[in-house]
Amino acid sequence: MYQMFQRAALLAAQTGWRELRFYDALYFCLTIPVVFIYGIVVGSFLNVVIIRVPRGESLIKRASHCMTCGAKIRIRDLIPVFSWLFLRGKCHNCGEKISARYPIVESLTGLLFVADFLVFGGEILSLNLLLMCIFTALLICIGFIDWDTQDIYDIMSYLIAALAIPSHFLTDAGLTVWDRLIGAACISIPFLIIGEISGIVIKKKTGEKVRGIELGDTILMACAGLYLGWKAMLPATFIGILLAAICGIIIKSVKGESKMAFGPYLCMGLLLGAMFGEELTNAYLAKGLGIPEPGYPVDFYTSLIHLLPLR
Ligand SMILES: [Zn+2]
Repeated sequence: MYQMFQRAALLAAQTGWRELRFYDALYFCLTIPVVFIYGIVVGSFLNVVIIRVPRGESLIKRASHCMTCGAKIRIRDLIPVFSWLFLRGKCHNCGEKISARYPIVESLTGLLFVADFLVFGGEILSLNLLLMCIFTALLICIGFIDWDTQDIYDIMSYLIAALAIPSHFLTDAGLTVWDRLIGAACISIPFLIIGEISGIVIKKKTGEKVRGIELGDTILMACAGLYLGWKAMLPATFIGILLAAICGIIIKSVKGESKMAFGPYLCMGLLLGAMFGEELTNAYLAKGLGIPEPGYPVDFYTSLIHLLPLR
């Protein structure tokens, strides 16, 4: 199946997606729904994590229940996304509204798993894809919990760092130990310095004990760097800061609040950085510095050039 995909990707890059053979199309028609369903099932567990971890509740002890009346959710109402649609977003017992957050997290997880699947080789049984899906799931939890509570649970960041071990020894991620160590330091150290200095400045001005960049964000970037390497971290951070700036301006003008969580935007940046960051950095280096790439593989950038009429 892997050869099948490789050939499909190669063909696509050389001649455009229209030339793909029937069997390649069939392969994706069969595999993408499987990955998506897997994603929405994982997503419904992530909902539980996002709600319960900040409250200090057990993840497994109590069955899913309505947040208003406490009624146990029936087995047939546990189907991700679809149950919410069938119930029209209301509890079967008390009729109270169920937050649209649940189906949104579920379908987001499904879509991102499919994106991971397409970007990372199109092979269902690959360790690389599994690690990337765990990474995606952790980022979804971190992002939503930070959005809700302005707090990042460092244990989740450490779990991301732990992914670096199987990624380094068991997959062909192509990162050296130095790539990973530089990745861990290149963003977190500037973040740490900015955080410390802004903390001192804010304390002098207002007496409050807040930092411009919280320690949780710094730890997250260090751990992610260990897993992704520096080439992915640079665009990831750039995208994260850009999104935070844009959304910060919007939130401030709509709500008038200036304090906001940085984590969700960093998570979005990290996701995009994990998918396309290394290629972007490679392409940037190759173009800007005139460095020829040895054995340039069929990747996002090459595909993009061939997909878009840039030639
Ligand atoms: Zn209820």
